[in-house]
Amino acid sequence: MPPRRARRSAAQRRPEASSGPRALISPRAAARLKSGHVWIYRSDILSAESTSPGAVVSVADERGRLYGSALYSSSSQIALRMISLEPVPDFPKLLRERVREAITYRTSLVRDTDAYRVIFSEADFLPGLIVDRYNDIVSLQILTQAMDREDARTALLAELAEHFASPTIAERVEPHIRELERLAPRQSGLLAGDRTSTIFTMNGVRFHFDIREGQKTGAFLDQRENYAAATAYAHGEALDVFCYQGAFALHLAKACSLVTGVDSSRPALEVADRNALLNQREIEWIEANAFDLLKDYSATGRQYDTIVLDPPAFAKSRKNLETALRGYKELNLRALKMLRPGGVLVTCSCSYHVGEAEFLEVVAEAARDTHKTLRLLERRGQAKDHPILIGVPETAYLKCLVFCVSA
Ligand code: SAH
Repeated sequence: MPPRRARRSAAQRRPEASSGPRALISPRAAARLKSGHVWIYRSDILSAESTSPGAVVSVADERGRLYGSALYSSSSQIALRMISLEPVPDFPKLLRERVREAITYRTSLVRDTDAYRVIFSEADFLPGLIVDRYNDIVSLQILTQAMDREDARTALLAELAEHFASPTIAERVEPHIRELERLAPRQSGLLAGDRTSTIFTMNGVRFHFDIREGQKTGAFLDQRENYAAATAYAHGEALDVFCYQGAFALHLAKACSLVTGVDSSRPALEVADRNALLNQREIEWIEANAFDLLKDYSATGRQYDTIVLDPPAFAKSRKNLETALRGYKELNLRALKMLRPGGVLVTCSCSYHVGEAEFLEVVAEAARDTHKTLRLLERRGQAKDHPILIGVPETAYLKCLVFCVSA
């Protein structure tokens, strides 16, 4: 819950009268809320009176103690997401306040970029809402019934329009998320303004952005600070594995004599190539399965001074953790084989289910197997515009470890 409203812990609160729908939660859910989490699973709801999809619901335990207000989803396993410790008589008004707070937070913390995450769902006390800015285009994703309400959408657009001078606002729809959330199908497209593409700049590197292209909302903004950090250690010949539209590669090119980027997505590499041109850099792009390419390259004795590994999330759930760890191990092992003494390994995992300690252990095993000695230069996470909310571990997902291979 946002600090301003969270001075009293849930346990200290006196029950307050509130009208409207009410959900009664189990002691287990109550304990979870007291620990700072904001989710209540459907299995922890004892009763939910007259709750409709996307409604603001007051949350209480069986003894009548009130915990605050939550947004209700009639379909998600996460049935309630807490939005305030207080009653919420006017959700659109609260939403506008939260958007303002999120923007103020970025104003003080985000540097050297005109592209950043403006709203990061739970971490900005706006569960189910993602908003990214790419220079003069704002790109948003709506993930829950509550955020899809017409009054919520109107409030959001009005508030964004006030802060970003005549922005273009684009919505990116994930059809399967709308289906899971039982929302009517929608098309991706413009909600305000008329631009469909722009150029944004991070750490002095320029990128094309097109609302119709790309994965996520367009770029992996969570890596922004890591691009700069990697550049500080990068040298010699560099390989950017899982390069997408070339963000690490283009940053490394500031410090390296030769840069190669690898990805299996041709559309991503086409943008990467246009980005290289935009920055007047020469980078070799290879369309390949990274596992196959690293296997070939390491077997034939290729050597590099800097390698970045930034694969997609291998562990989408705890169920495939073992397979994920094997995948990470293989990638890191091949990369270490190819690094010259004094070389730099920047290795990332965006799987929430793989903790930093586990990830470090994977790299340590790969180092033992390749007889390399590694020094950990930096253990990093997501950029500050993707805040980590203490009490909600799911908001911390990105690991970026920087190692130096001993001579
Ligand atoms: N480093 C990028 C983000 C990488 S996201 C950046 O900072 O912008 C993961 C990328 O891995 C995606 O571009 C996806 O196309 C690519 N990918 C997924 N599986 C792959 C595979 N087996 N081989 C190569 N690339 C793969």
